Amino acid sequence: MNKRKPDWLRVKLQGAEKTHEVKEMLNRLSLHTVCQEANCPNLIECFGRKTATFMILGSVCTRNCTFCNVTKGITQGVDPEEPANVAKAVTELGLKHAVITSVTRDDLPDGGAGHFAEVIKKLKATKVIVEVLIPDLQGSREALATIVSARPHILNHNIETVPRLYPTVRPKASYARSLELLKNSKELDASVFTKSGIMVGLGEQEEEVISVMKDLRAVDCDLLTIGQYLAPSAKHHPVIEYIHPDLFKKYKDIAYEMGFKYVASDPLVRSSYHAADVAQIFTS
Ligand code: SF4
Ligand code: SF4
Repeated sequence: MNKRKPDWLRVKLQGAEKTHEVKEMLNRLSLHTVCQEANCPNLIECFGRKTATFMILGSVCTRNCTFCNVTKGITQGVDPEEPANVAKAVTELGLKHAVITSVTRDDLPDGGAGHFAEVIKKLKATKVIVEVLIPDLQGSREALATIVSARPHILNHNIETVPRLYPTVRPKASYARSLELLKNSKELDASVFTKSGIMVGLGEQEEEVISVMKDLRAVDCDLLTIGQYLAPSAKHHPVIEYIHPDLFKKYKDIAYEMGFKYVASDPLVRSSYHAADVAQIFTS
């Protein structure tokens, strides 16, 4: 698709001066962010507000999702200093809500679950709200239990798209396995909020998105994000459609009717965009 981006996807460049400060700190602590690796359109805004989504377990992924800008290939070792450094960065940035994600490490026996647990423990000691956005851990309930038992406040796993599009969008992933992970998390510890996200504009139909929302509610998923897919380059999965903000609003209303506790649905929403806004669920 060669159409110009619609006006609602044009971002205001506010906060550019603070991004340098954040990038310098990330380099100093050898940390990666999904904001930079994924070329997120909100980077200047988020770094300007001194918020970031940390990407642990290296910057190279063992999967090959066609929408994703993260480097794929031979993975690196795991930095034992990373849990402490993430905690340092969160403290330096003065965050109240930290989002931690990772590449998928199918090469590690536990998928990186033990490392996630270490990061969660270090962060919880700083009193920040901890949200982890985790890979599917190849369906290992044991690896999931390692993460859940570290008790993050929010366990996020993105379903990303409708099941029909999995073979072209997430060829190494499984829709059923992702739903199962969210279900297992609730079974392991119902007090940990679960969250998921959908990208739209990949060629899905409206009814298919609603059906995914129903499937998520059927596994008791609490929180939902819906955002416009933007292709990182011409080599990635093309944008099939720019979804109008009115349809995002409609999805949001339907999702609340279905019982989600918090829904962010807007063209520029990413799983971690304004993640701290979800804090209202901890006080209601
Ligand atoms: Fe980073 Fe998320 Fe903000 Fe994008 S929306 S810049 S990934 S914190
Ligand atoms: Fe990107 Fe995650 Fe897919 Fe890896 S598993 S290619 S990081 S979306």
